[in-house]
Amino acid sequence: MLLKDRVAIVTGGAGINGLGFATARMLAAHGANVVILDLAGANPAGAAAELGPQHLGVVADVTNKEQCDAAAQAALARFGRIDILFANAGITQPRKTLDITAADYDAVLDVSLRGTLLMSQAVLPAMREQRSGSIICTSSVSAQRGGGILGGPHYSAAKAGVLGLMRAMAREFGPDGIRVNAITPGLIATDIIKGKLTEERKGEIANDIPLARLGRADDIAGAVVFLGSDLSAYCTGVTLDVNGGMLIH
Ligand code: NAD
Repeated sequence: MLLKDRVAIVTGGAGINGLGFATARMLAAHGANVVILDLAGANPAGAAAELGPQHLGVVADVTNKEQCDAAAQAALARFGRIDILFANAGITQPRKTLDITAADYDAVLDVSLRGTLLMSQAVLPAMREQRSGSIICTSSVSAQRGGGILGGPHYSAAKAGVLGLMRAMAREFGPDGIRVNAITPGLIATDIIKGKLTEERKGEIANDIPLARLGRADDIAGAVVFLGSDLSAYCTGVTLDVNGGMLIH
């Protein structure tokens, strides 16, 4: 058990086919008590119940500071500590640069970038008091290669912003024993790509990936368990590519 009695918050964790829920399930399998945070419509309580009665579901919108703070307080009230934050919530939109409206920009940046900041602000005081903690931010291969598969340029920008935020927080909170890292998933088969790619297009993409397949949600979960556990005790400020080798050049 890599995470026995650790407490992990997973934002955007309620989608049964998503990266968040797969990660919540693997965190729980390694002994963590998991807090699944998601929008009301995604039913985080139901998702937490799927994992077992000791886990907690919390309704919160990561773009709202009060709701982020309340979610962290609910985790502390139930479990007394917060060891891991997986800032996973994110949305994408297939747009070209000239088509991005102000509302599109706000929607996409608010969930990925503002949401990562607000949830980090919500958990950092408790982590600092404990003098330990691990925050895992969710960027994307889209930040590194300039999109090109699903999200628009505003999505690439949001995910690139997450990398800068991650590195700055890693620098600031390292002395407090808090590690901050990011994963950059490649193309992972979840609801976020549902209906957006034909089987033929998926095959073409897989042909360009050294491991010759799209990613699975559990590929991400394994990377997050690594970054959340003491196996990565000397890793901070790291960008961990989980993309089947898509970026080797
Ligand atoms: P998904 O759409 O299946 O899940 C996203 C979850 O976030 C949903 O449960 C949704 O309800 C929740 N969410 C959305 N807005 C929210 C808000 N304001 N507050 C709280 N929760 C909110 O997507 P996924 O594929 O599982 O993606 C998870 C993360 O990984 C996202 O940040 C995404 O950008 C990133 N990512 C995904 C891929 C991929 O190929 N699937 C690749 C790179 C990065």
